[in-house]
Amino acid sequence: MELYGAIEAGGTKFLCAVGTGPGDLRAVVRIPTTTPEETLGRVVAFFRGFRSELRAIGVGAFGPLDLNPNSPAFGTIPTTPKPGWSGVNLLKPLQEAFRIPIRLETDVNAAALGEGCWGAAQGLETFVYLTVGTGIGGGAIVHGRLLHGALHPEMGHIRIPHDRERDPFPGVCPFHGDCLEGLASGPALEARWGQSPESLPEDHPGWELEAEYLALGLIDILCVLVPERIILGGGVMQNRSLFPRIRWWVKELLKGYLPAPVLRGDLDDYIVPPALGDQAGLLGALALAMDKAPLG
Ligand code: ZN
Repeated sequence: MELYGAIEAGGTKFLCAVGTGPGDLRAVVRIPTTTPEETLGRVVAFFRGFRSELRAIGVGAFGPLDLNPNSPAFGTIPTTPKPGWSGVNLLKPLQEAFRIPIRLETDVNAAALGEGCWGAAQGLETFVYLTVGTGIGGGAIVHGRLLHGALHPEMGHIRIPHDRERDPFPGVCPFHGDCLEGLASGPALEARWGQSPESLPEDHPGWELEAEYLALGLIDILCVLVPERIILGGGVMQNRSLFPRIRWWVKELLKGYLPAPVLRGDLDDYIVPPALGDQAGLLGALALAMDKAPLG
């Protein structure tokens, strides 16, 4: 039996699983993110139980991450507000414990890969997965390949117009204040309105502003990559009423420019939720382990 390992490494939990595909995810465990030693120790212990069958492990991790295989810091988290995790190498403990390929990507690039292989972006060559939750981050597949430059993309930190008279909220990003993440992430909603996104009523005016900000961010991504589809995941997007509002704002802001057929009509098939739901990241890590490409 050949099995593949998947790790979705997040700031609050590490989800680990072994399997061979979306219909065969077994032994899923949830390990709370505590100290790096304890957390990674428990991750290694989990996979040891499958040692003889395991062929490779894929990791989709919070970042920023050093993903350059030629860098001496390959596999490390250079800086993170998560206490104790700056400078931690995520790959090393796994490489030392298992002599199999360990593949690492950002959580959002992994989620994009998962959606491309088995979810809402099957058959597409160029698409974006954006998560809107405790942070905002985007992964992109361009011409069938995960997009990296000198670093992986950091789409949550693009700058968008911010009218401080209408919305005096300064933003929550520790680096930029009012970048997209600073204005539209879950913590930004909570800080601005004094209520968590889950408890904010659906008819609260905050949602219209949220849709406008997210649409402004999407316009930037759209004009640069012209993806064939945009998938919006993450906790904040659990409010499904955001989807029609965001589509409306994107149409409004584009003004009919970008005459691509996919951008005609109501955008119902263009800006969509993840088909894999909250398993996009974990299944993406599995796709990474299986060395899958989104177009098969
Ligand atoms: Zn920022």
